[in-house]
Amino acid sequence: MKRLLPLLLSCALLAGCGAGQASPSAGTDADTQYFFAMDTIMSITAYDGDTSAALVAAQQEVNRLEALWSRTRPESDVSRLNDHAGDGTAVPIQPETARLLETAAAAAQESGLAFDPVLAPVMDAWGFGLTESETTAVHRVPSQEELSALLPLTRDLPQVTAGEDGSYTAALPLTGQAADLGGIAKGASAAYVVDALTAHGVENAILSLGGNITALGHRPDGQPFRVLVTDPLASEDGYLCTIALEGGLTCSTSGGYERYFESDGVTYHHIIDPSTGYPAQSGLLSVTTVAADPALADAWSTALFVLGPDRALELWRSGEGTVAGMELILVTQGQQVYVTQGLEEGLQFHGEEAGYTYEIVRR
Ligand code: ADP
Ligand code: MG
Repeated sequence: MKRLLPLLLSCALLAGCGAGQASPSAGTDADTQYFFAMDTIMSITAYDGDTSAALVAAQQEVNRLEALWSRTRPESDVSRLNDHAGDGTAVPIQPETARLLETAAAAAQESGLAFDPVLAPVMDAWGFGLTESETTAVHRVPSQEELSALLPLTRDLPQVTAGEDGSYTAALPLTGQAADLGGIAKGASAAYVVDALTAHGVENAILSLGGNITALGHRPDGQPFRVLVTDPLASEDGYLCTIALEGGLTCSTSGGYERYFESDGVTYHHIIDPSTGYPAQSGLLSVTTVAADPALADAWSTALFVLGPDRALELWRSGEGTVAGMELILVTQGQQVYVTQGLEEGLQFHGEEAGYTYEIVRR
């Protein structure tokens, strides 16, 4: 969160500016909307179409989805699902929520539950749960006993049922279970934002929805957008590399540096390994995924952070499955940066002085 605004501003700057231009909008009819939603700062810049109506509609979409997917709003689909965990009630949910739960379940199954959408009891035990804001969160290190008691609640996925009339219900099988879609909801929103923009004639736009950046079309000069990837070790704003992004692709970054606390000199971050209940220690500082489906980009940046560099590259190299269709930037604790070959064109590496080395990974 704390580095989001600079990232966003730099991103916006790079997203639209050619050499010598002072602002992303210079020389174009671009229109930018900044707003706060889903506990993060979001920005959308539209370069064509009916930009003002498009941006209003786009923000309304995010607000609508947040009202469905928030854990802190009692009437949301997710809150009602959680309230009825284990009591046998199939809770009516909107089609958007059904689709989100199904995408989350697919990522969970394919990742061997490295991505787990029902980790809420464990997230809450660490204080990373209901209050996502760093100013109000109360972080603590739960005991091994406490985590052992909670882990059995984290594996059974929500059951989604489609009715003949197109309606949906969902249920959580066990008492005490709760869904937390924080690892996928922002990415999933991007698809709806893109639809809202497109409906108002926007063909070129850049969206930044809290660590997930989607490039619709290209820059006004016909070039791909340029997106900055954060240096996970930088205490001030520092950037590891710039990548080119266009044609509807989304880039999503997950890193332990984004949200964490310290206790007795140990740092604990907010990406949990569902097999242990502890913050993932996979040897990675951050993972960036680039994918056509923004929800999957978001879910898999979290999942691959848990799985670690060897497994991530194995999945990418295998040529089969969701990860094989993505491009990746993996940053290890040893400051080695692995960039898969599809990102080579347009890649600018900024990390040498900070001690990083990088390697292009090929199939
Ligand atoms: P952020 O949302 O902070 O940008 P991520 O997309 O990596 O970063 O999502 C992290 C969030 O996902 C956590 O705050 C928590 O809500 C949830 N989460 C943490 N660990 C996992 C996991 N292993 N599987 C699914 N969700 C997780
Ligand atoms: Mg994620």
